[in-house]
Amino acid sequence: RDEFRIALGALEIWDKTVSDVMTKIEDVFMLPTSARLNTKLVAEILRMGYTRIPIYEHDRNNVVSLLFVKDLALLDPEDNVSVSTVCNFHQHMVRFVTEDTPLRFLLDEFKKGDYHLAMVHKLVYADDADPSYELVGLITLEDIFEEILQAEIVDE
Ligand code: ADP
Repeated sequence: RDEFRIALGALEIWDKTVSDVMTKIEDVFMLPTSARLNTKLVAEILRMGYTRIPIYEHDRNNVVSLLFVKDLALLDPEDNVSVSTVCNFHQHMVRFVTEDTPLRFLLDEFKKGDYHLAMVHKLVYADDADPSYELVGLITLEDIFEEILQAEIVDE
């Protein structure tokens, strides 16, 4: 029955897109490049429990880097190092997908193994300006797995 459910879940992601399963931007834990990695902030980061944290410059719509919690391992909170210093050192690449990307495309992309987290954006059209991107969420491989595993079997 479990195998059947997983097969069903795999079928279900066929017609779903990134926006159906992503974590919405207002729920994403992010930090600015200017933040200082002091004891208080490191404690907060650990309390949140995420492995990867999007880093923005000036406003939350402008994600420029990722901070991995493991990057903090050799850091001395007494040094008050800034997030930008750590990010410039590690240079983890931020990947973007548009919200209407079919989940099966992103799953194929994640399967290649280069990255397992992407920021989600959408194109917004304005009458008096060029179209621009607006950040709307974050998606990881885990979100796709969850979608596959939670498929419900509706009995006749
Ligand atoms: P983690 O290893 O950080 O727990 P996962 O890839 O296992 O990340 O994802 C677990 C859930 O947490 C997913 O729903 C994902 O969208 C969400 N998530 C991952 N990173 C963040 C973050 N920085 N802020 C908010 N949600 C996040």
